[in-house]
Amino acid sequence: MADVAAAYQATQGSPLEVDRAFYDRISAAVGEDTLVEELTIPIRDARAWKVPAGHVFRIKSVDGPQVGDFNLWSAADPRERMWASRTRQLQRAHVSTYDRLWSTLPFLRPMATITHDTLADYGIDEDGGRVHDLLGTRCDPYVNKLLSGVDFDYHCHSNLTRAVAPFGLTEFDIHDVLNVFQCTGLNGRDQYFMKACPARPGDYLELFAEIDLLCALSCCPGGDLSIDLWGPDARDPLETCHPIGIEIHRIDPALLDGWKTPTRPDYRGAHGMRRPELDWTEIKRQRCC
Ligand SMILES: [Zn+2]
Repeated sequence: MADVAAAYQATQGSPLEVDRAFYDRISAAVGEDTLVEELTIPIRDARAWKVPAGHVFRIKSVDGPQVGDFNLWSAADPRERMWASRTRQLQRAHVSTYDRLWSTLPFLRPMATITHDTLADYGIDEDGGRVHDLLGTRCDPYVNKLLSGVDFDYHCHSNLTRAVAPFGLTEFDIHDVLNVFQCTGLNGRDQYFMKACPARPGDYLELFAEIDLLCALSCCPGGDLSIDLWGPDARDPLETCHPIGIEIHRIDPALLDGWKTPTRPDYRGAHGMRRPELDWTEIKRQRCC
């Protein structure tokens, strides 16, 4: 594949640059003695949990390969939520260690930074598949009904909707996901494909909370995606479904010295609506980048 330069590059001094040594120290500190909370997400269901800024959480394979559909909000304001498409641009379409999950406008700040990924060495396989995908989105009952004519209540969209209801959120708050442990890519016709999940018990994705977070993850009813969900060979993949574990870790504040929760970009304009003194000719002359 042609190695064309990325549109957004983390050059030295850029806000996209990550202090890798800092996050390495954070990840190295995570252990049994830092664990403050654990939960298990049952098959074909979801759970939501909060993570205070400066804490670390792990999404882990505990019983067998299973993909998880992950959503992320600011715990203080659910209008700020993960922006999958901008994260694809600023980071990558499949994320791993040192990549960040960015929030929607007008917030636009890193919500979480990946500090460790046991599948980081998966790289790209012979079909162009990679792991931890931001290309696709959650499965949902509407597409299911459209394509199969069947009502099914345990797609990731529905699982996530039930999980966040106690936090006052609804299905309108469910957004494009990070597909954790999911192997995907684009084929030669530029079409999305999914392959069997490569995660095994013990594998995990570890993230540092840059802000106070509300998280939710669904164990996809597709299980490890080794059985076709659509098409002539489709059948119920219940036998491939496994739970996913969550760990939350409190990090020694001394290790956070120098770190502070990110703020939004200091854009002071109002999209041109408070500048009647300027004519459009002058506005177009302004430096934009
Ligand atoms: Zn799903």
